[in-house]
This record gives sequence, C-alpha cells and structure tokens, in this order.
Amino acid sequence: MDFSLTEEHIMIRDAAREFAQNELLPGVIERDEKQHFPDSLVKKMANLGFMGIMVNPKYGGSGMDTISYVLVMEELSKVDASAAVIVSVNNSLVCYGLEAFGSEYQKQKYLTKLATGELIGAFCLSEPEAGSDATSQKTSAIDKGDYYLLNGTKNWITNGGRADVYLVIAQTDKEKGSHGINAFIVEKGMKGFHVGPKENKLGIRGSDTHTLQFNDVKVPKENRIGDDGFGFKFAMKTLSGGRIGIAAQALGIAQGAYELALKYSKERKTFGTEISNHQAIAFKLADMHTEISAARHLVMKSAWDKDQGKNYDTSSAMAKLYASKVAMKQTVEAVQIFGGNGFVKDYHVERLMRDAKITQIYEGTSEIQKIVISRSILKE
Ligand SMILES: Cc1cc2nc3c(=O)[nH]c(=O)nc-3n(C[C@H](O)[C@H](O)[C@H](O)COP(=O)(O)OP(=O)(O)OC[C@H]3O[C@@H](n4cnc5c(N)ncnc54)[C@H](O)[C@@H]3O)c2cc1C
Repeated sequence: MDFSLTEEHIMIRDAAREFAQNELLPGVIERDEKQHFPDSLVKKMANLGFMGIMVNPKYGGSGMDTISYVLVMEELSKVDASAAVIVSVNNSLVCYGLEAFGSEYQKQKYLTKLATGELIGAFCLSEPEAGSDATSQKTSAIDKGDYYLLNGTKNWITNGGRADVYLVIAQTDKEKGSHGINAFIVEKGMKGFHVGPKENKLGIRGSDTHTLQFNDVKVPKENRIGDDGFGFKFAMKTLSGGRIGIAAQALGIAQGAYELALKYSKERKTFGTEISNHQAIAFKLADMHTEISAARHLVMKSAWDKDQGKNYDTSSAMAKLYASKVAMKQTVEAVQIFGGNGFVKDYHVERLMRDAKITQIYEGTSEIQKIVISRSILKE
C-alpha cells in the first residue's frame, strides 16, 4: 500500500494551489456577494488544463488520472467552491460522459472543445418533479426519424446560463420506464431552447444555476449518446464519477476552513493567551484534522478505484456522504473558532460554511448516497 503522491500529482496540486491563492482568492468575496460567474478565471483554468483534466490528449485533454482531478478540486474548493463546481461539472459529468459513451463524431465535434475549455458544458438531469427520483422524467424526446423533438423543463442546472453544450436526459418511451430514457447533446442557440432566470442561492453563489426550457427543440439523431434506451444508465454511471468530484469539493471546503481556523487560533488572544492554548479550541482543531484526514482517505480511495478500473459506485457514494458531512460540521466549527469575526464576510469561513451545504444535496443527496451504499452492502 503506497499513500504517496507522484511527482506529477504534486506538480498539478501545486499549480492548482498557486492559481487558487493568486487568482481565485482576490475577488472571491465580491463574486459571492454579487453572484458573479468567474468568466475570465474559467479561461485561465482552461489554459492550465483544468477543464479536461482526465480527457485523453487526442481529444484536447490533459490526460491525467482521477487522483490529479481530486487534487485540483480540493485546492480550488479550499478558496472558491463556485469555481470548483464549474470545473467539476465540465470534467466529470460532461467530458467524462462524452469520452466514455459518446460516438467518435460526438467526441470530435464537442469533446475536443469542452476539454480545452473553448466550450463549457452542463449536465441536465433534474426536473421540478424529478430530483432524487430521477426515473420520473417528464421531459420527452419523440423520435421523428432524422431528429428527436425535445420538450420539457430542467431545473437547478449548473453552468445553465454560461454553457454552450448541454447533455440532456429525456424520456423517449414512457412504457419502458428507466429503459425508455435517452441522453442527448443539445447546443445553446437551438431553436426552442430557452434559459430561465438565475437562481439566488445560499452558497456557491459564483456558480451559474438556471432552469432550462425546451419547446419543440429539434435534436439531430446523431446527438443521442449511446444505444437507444441507454440514457438512465448513462446518467447513473456519469454521476458515480461526479460524486468523486463533489466529495473532493467538500474535502477542499473543509480543509480550507480548517487551515483558516488553525491560523486564527494561533493569533487571536483571550485571557492573556492565544485561543489555541484553550483545550476546547485545541480539541476542535484535533477533531477537524482527524475527520478531514478520514474524508481524504475515502475520496482518494474512490479516485484510486476509478483509476484502477474497479467499480467505484459504492466508494464514491461513501466518499461523498462522509466528506460532505465533515464539510458541513467542520465549517460550523471554524466559524465558532473565529467568534464574531466568523460571522462576517471578510474572514471567509462563513462563505465556506454556506458553500458546504450544497455538497450534501447535489449529485444525489446524502439520503440517496445511503440508499446506494445500503443496497450494495445488503446484496453482498
Ligand atoms: C445549486 C444546485 C446545483 C445543481 N446542479 C445540478 C445540475 O447541474 N444538474 C442537475 O441535473 N441537477 C442539479 N441540481 C439538482 C440536485 O441534484 C437535486 O436538487 C438533488 O438531486 C435533490 O433533488 P430535489 O431537489 O428534487 O429534492 P427531492 O428529491 O425532492 O428530495 C427532498 C428530500 O427528500 C429526501 N428523499 C427523497 N427521496 C428519498 C428516499 N427515497 N429516501 C429518503 N429520503 C429521500 C432527499 O434526500 C431530500 O432530503 C443542483 C441543485 C442545486 C441546489
């Protein structure tokens, strides 16, 4: 068993750390307050190869492994979880989905531009009546010969207003249930495709979340991903990898809050000594460090499973469930360590606490992760 990182891992981690500190940190409070999407920073992340980390270089990607992806996600999320989710959706939902299951035509036309960050992607599964219960798709795509006619509403779509390419899940044959679902590539600008207003959110406010409307959108036949009826499997397989990214986002949020709290505890004095000398604070830091390390092991194990070609459905659910719980709990503790300063924006921990919550909700809530994990252990 070898827990050490390779030289390549250390290089990409350090590049992400440097970028986060130098480029993401300066405007992060303002972007959060004003709900500004970091357009120019996305371009810079693309130049660093962060928009297609795991994609084969022949399709414009960086050709790195899932461990590298996790390291980048952790470093970005320590500083700006909004920038991190833009990277996560593009990498593990859109690029992975196309590379693993798309046709050569789809890879050449879309993946090559998504992996370089020339285009941004979005993944559209959730609907007003289909969140956790993703099989209850109301969006329909009717086979019309050369094309599918797409109608319906998707909500909560990350990168919704900024994306160029949307992977849309829709029901093609209601009778067949989850086997009558397909995934389609939809381009912004296709007639009948409308982007609704931006959501005003509790956290990850720099990310761009919208409802999307499809009214008689003609989607060419060649834009269906995989065989007829593959859409639900496509969504579940893709989300398994996505959960590794979100687990890494949660890990980064927790680690970022911990590092800030640790530093502050050595500076702030009460009763004539640094607050880190009060055992109540030192023990909080000990718990934070322990739980965050445990979360990191689960996240890395899941990434390793994927890199080794092993099944990662359960390990990614475990990593997301635990890392998101640690992120929520330990960002609250970080705010406590900062006292009154924790409650204002300048010290960053209140934002990290707000950002942590989403990691327990999207790409499958914590309750859904427990369904995945319990089903897997009960069938063993
Ligand atoms: C900021 C943000 C970004 C998002 N980005 C995307 C995106 O890019 N693409 C996309 O497709 N979706 C996205 N989502 C949607 C997200 O994945 C869903 O919100 C999530 O899956 C939960 O679905 P829901 O909101 O419909 O909640 P519901 O499914 O209505 O769940 C409500 C509550 O009931 C619980 N629950 C439901 N069923 C069960 C059960 N069987 N057993 C126990 N408890 C259960 C849930 O855990 C939850 O606590 C995003 C959401 C947000 C808020």
